[in-house]
Amino acid sequence: VQIVVVGGGFAGVKVVIELSKSGHKNITLVSDQDYFLHHATLYATATGRSKKESVIKLTDIFASHPEVKVVNDTVTALDAERKLVVGAHTSYNYDTLILALGVVTTYFGIKGLAEHSYGIKTLSEVENFKNHLHSELEADKHIDKTYVVIGAGPTGVELAGELSGYLAEVAAAHGAKRAKIRIKLVEAAPRVLPRMSEVASKAIEARLKMLGVQVMTGCKVEAETEDEVIVDGKSIASDTVVWTSGVANHSFFKENSQAFHLAPNGRVEVNEFLQASPDIYVIGDNANTRYTGTAYTALHNAVFLADYLTRLLRHQPPQPYRPRLFAAIVPVGKSWAMYERGVVHVAGWIGMKLRRFTELRDYMSLLPFGKAWQAWRARHTIEESCEICKKART
Ligand SMILES: Cc1cc2nc3c(=O)[nH]c(=O)nc-3n(C[C@H](O)[C@H](O)[C@H](O)COP(=O)(O)OP(=O)(O)OC[C@H]3O[C@@H](n4cnc5c(N)ncnc54)[C@H](O)[C@@H]3O)c2cc1C
Repeated sequence: VQIVVVGGGFAGVKVVIELSKSGHKNITLVSDQDYFLHHATLYATATGRSKKESVIKLTDIFASHPEVKVVNDTVTALDAERKLVVGAHTSYNYDTLILALGVVTTYFGIKGLAEHSYGIKTLSEVENFKNHLHSELEADKHIDKTYVVIGAGPTGVELAGELSGYLAEVAAAHGAKRAKIRIKLVEAAPRVLPRMSEVASKAIEARLKMLGVQVMTGCKVEAETEDEVIVDGKSIASDTVVWTSGVANHSFFKENSQAFHLAPNGRVEVNEFLQASPDIYVIGDNANTRYTGTAYTALHNAVFLADYLTRLLRHQPPQPYRPRLFAAIVPVGKSWAMYERGVVHVAGWIGMKLRRFTELRDYMSLLPFGKAWQAWRARHTIEESCEICKKART
């Protein structure tokens, strides 16, 4: 049986590892990047920590899985009748196809955002953002600026929470004289982290304010130009606007819609075995399962699917997929995080310890212990490409 998995993210990598552990042969993983991106740590990479914790080579992950063929290619089309998935370099025949392509950024048609805003969802976005911060400081040693983060979901909150401390350190390294740094976090919903409880939301907002972040909830971004962003009709002067809101399903599914039924939110409808059409399974952020959109759900989907396919191979009765709600843990600044699971809340340094523990567990579910430990420990390594900061901070 030839299994082709497309997408080397949480769901794709995990399903391949589990299938390989269960004795499946002939597995091909096709991904458009030769590395796995640990999104949840990108906010730390964006604020001066080593990218070794967010970027892990696929060849490192699969070094001890000789039955897995890793191919670097971008998949563009599907011919379900001929059981063929088409990449930019070549085509791949499959008996079983597993799609886990992740989501893409959308700007909801807001004028100017695509051209002028920064992002931290990909490695190149993170590098672009950091280069901008440092090159501005190099050019102008007198910093008096407003930084705007749009979207108070986990990514926006995590970034805003780290940014004030990071910018102060970078400004000092560059010898910026009067470092007046203002950080505004803009959110259209009436409160931060609208998917968490009000209790968690209030505590996180208080923590952000303590760190000097101005929280603007119930405010809509209307447009952006090179040097201002318009929020509820008012102009905020800023040339550093980070867009952390807005994701849409990968366009592959719409472009190949003959094989898929799309839900109103654009995600792919799957049955109780995460199957979208004969011999095609969709997992992770692409699948319209309950609690989709988190790394934990992506991993949970992957573990389920590998077990289901193994049962089919062994002629054992299949079990249907059971969605699970996982804890949410959001770090806000150094040594503080909010943990929430049902009515249980743990805030502060214990919350941060729990977060760090789950990160180690994530790495260990993908990598051998030694490599997992190295990736996890990289949080303590400062990494700057800016020459001034390299000398002063590392
Ligand atoms: C900044 C950020 C922070 C986050 N923080 C958290 C968090 O703290 N906790 C949490 O649970 N979740 C978090 N998430 C969400 C979590 O990362 C996603 O839910 C998870 O990555 C989904 O896994 P996936 O495998 O579906 O997609 P992804 O991990 O995005 O993987 C998709 C893969 O497909 C590849 N690909 C895309 N297009 C093609 C193509 N055409 N051909 C071949 N390969 C392709 C991509 O390169 C990528 O390797 C965060 C997300 C972001 C962006």
